[in-house]
Amino acid sequence: MFQLLKKALQVGEATVKYPFQPIEVAPGFRGKPVYDFNRCIACGACATACPPNAITMEQDSEKGIVSWEIDYGRCIYCGRCDEVCPTGAIVLSEEFELASFRREDLRIRAEIRLRRCSSCGDYFAPCRELDYVLASLEQAGLTRNDQEGWKQLMEVCPDCRRLQAARTAVGPQARKKVIERGTVKWQRK
Ligand code: SF4
Ligand code: SF4
Repeated sequence: MFQLLKKALQVGEATVKYPFQPIEVAPGFRGKPVYDFNRCIACGACATACPPNAITMEQDSEKGIVSWEIDYGRCIYCGRCDEVCPTGAIVLSEEFELASFRREDLRIRAEIRLRRCSSCGDYFAPCRELDYVLASLEQAGLTRNDQEGWKQLMEVCPDCRRLQAARTAVGPQARKKVIERGTVKWQRK
């Protein structure tokens, strides 16, 4: 008995007073993914990587917005979104107390504007994503020789870009090749 008491005193407190006191989590703990709207470029990498489809994205080409949504009720805290996000807009935190009385409270939604094509007027890609691509190209020094040209390129949708390339392609064979790569709009123009 004495031995046992001695051992208990040596070990000290083996339990924690949670939830009456905050609990410390281990280093590298994977808790709630926290989303920063201002950093998000709506690239969709997180939605593609998320195994249980907790993150979803939907494009509304009529309104010109892309919506981003996370459902914490589906999240398995794997951290894939954190790994693939190019801007650090979603990072895992140490937060784990997510209990809620209402399912809706476990969802976060954001809307990001799409860019209108300067040629056909259709919405085609998130403005922020295009700006991010341009900034990355500039940073890498790839736009040095034709800054304006690159800027204009980011204003045109892929279909119209292909169409423009077909128009400027030298010779009928080259033109045919560009068209065959799949522009539907060629017939409309
Ligand atoms: S932690 Fe995993 S499951 Fe949760 S949102 Fe990110 S990718 Fe999806
Ligand atoms: S990967 Fe990052 S930047 Fe891209 S949509 Fe997800 S949160 Fe936004």
